[in-house]
Amino acid sequence: MKKTIAVLGATGSIGIQTLNAVRTCLNNVNIDVLTGYKNIDRLAPLVDEFKPEKVWVPDKEAASKLNALVTHRCKVFTGDEELIACAAENNADIVINALVGRAGLAPTLAAISAGKDIALANKETLVTAGPLVINLARKKNVGITPIDSEHSAIWQCLQDNPQAVEKILLTASGGPFRTWSQKKITNARAEDALRHPNWKMGAKITIDSATLMNKGLELIEAMHLFNQPLENIEILVHPQSIIHSMVQYHDGSVIAQLGLPDMQLPILYALSAPKRVKNNFPRLDFTKCGDLTFEAPNIDKFPCLALAIQAAKTGGTLPAVMNYMNEWAVGEFLKNKIGFYDISSLIALAFRSYTVKPVKTLADIQDAEAWAAQFIKSLPSTKYEIHV
Ligand code: NDP
Ligand code: MG
Repeated sequence: MKKTIAVLGATGSIGIQTLNAVRTCLNNVNIDVLTGYKNIDRLAPLVDEFKPEKVWVPDKEAASKLNALVTHRCKVFTGDEELIACAAENNADIVINALVGRAGLAPTLAAISAGKDIALANKETLVTAGPLVINLARKKNVGITPIDSEHSAIWQCLQDNPQAVEKILLTASGGPFRTWSQKKITNARAEDALRHPNWKMGAKITIDSATLMNKGLELIEAMHLFNQPLENIEILVHPQSIIHSMVQYHDGSVIAQLGLPDMQLPILYALSAPKRVKNNFPRLDFTKCGDLTFEAPNIDKFPCLALAIQAAKTGGTLPAVMNYMNEWAVGEFLKNKIGFYDISSLIALAFRSYTVKPVKTLADIQDAEAWAAQFIKSLPSTKYEIHV
């Protein structure tokens, strides 16, 4: 059967790999929507190749640039409201959300409201507004399929018997600074943090992987996706990234999903499940992958993980504040305006000043984010000099 998809964030790491999976493995997929943001040069050939009905770019300038580069004629939309409309008003059976950061939440909610199934890479959606998103999906009877490799692994392991779960073992590579001393990490710069040992990803998630915030975000993502309490999820550092996560059942049996660190596989599975699609992706060779090792995460060396656990435990609007602060601080770190440990220090500072509220509607999330934006404005602009 022919499937129609919309790819939000087509020009990013997940977007490009999604389109590559479609190009190389799926000949029955039609693409209705593509979106880009800054990389219009990258978007243009994708528009000509996949011939979507609708394309979204941020503004009129980007639209003119795109129009000058493409031969395929389609409707080009601009502006935040139109991104949300493109997520909902389309012919797609599945909306792939490969946007990065907070920008992903409103399009996810709009697509779910319109009854679209979601293949979700944008973990920030669930971190910020997990209960709202999950409840809406339940109400609208739409599926949310994880693209994040750990969650894809857990989802695959859970197909045995989701009622009999004892705990989820969420694996983490440990990032580029796993073996660095705290002193050395203090002076790490963006270029050091961008050198991930196993995965090639967009800049924001690569920094999140270095701080272990990524694992904290994934912890919250897993709680909402799989309806598990915090204490049922154990984070396990597994530097080789071969086991993508595991599920331990009530009888003590542990089911794992393994593979090379390659996002194409979880992307393909999110689009084809429960079918398994033949492909030519490289195979895991057990005689060559070496030892598989495991250790507990070091939360003293990686305080972002401790902050995310605190946010997961507290709930309400705190994860949204954390997510906002993190996204901003990662941006500052990428510009080498703040140090590595300033990311966690600034989030911790916000936590100390913020009064957590329950989340009943999207407005509660928006208020929390507005508070965080205001908090950032109130910080001294030249130098943060904040250490906890
Ligand atoms: P990238 O930064 O590579 O791509 C992000 C995409 O979103 C790009 O298409 C970008 O456009 C677009 N974009 C950025 N900002 C905005 C905005 N404000 N409004 C609309 N569009 C925007 O990110 P990744 O592909 O690495 O990550 C995407 C999501 O998937 C993240 O939530 C990440 O945590 C998650 N994820 C990623 C993995 C990976 O391997 N990369 C693995 C697991 C999860 P443009 O490029 O044109 O500027
Ligand atoms: Mg992941």
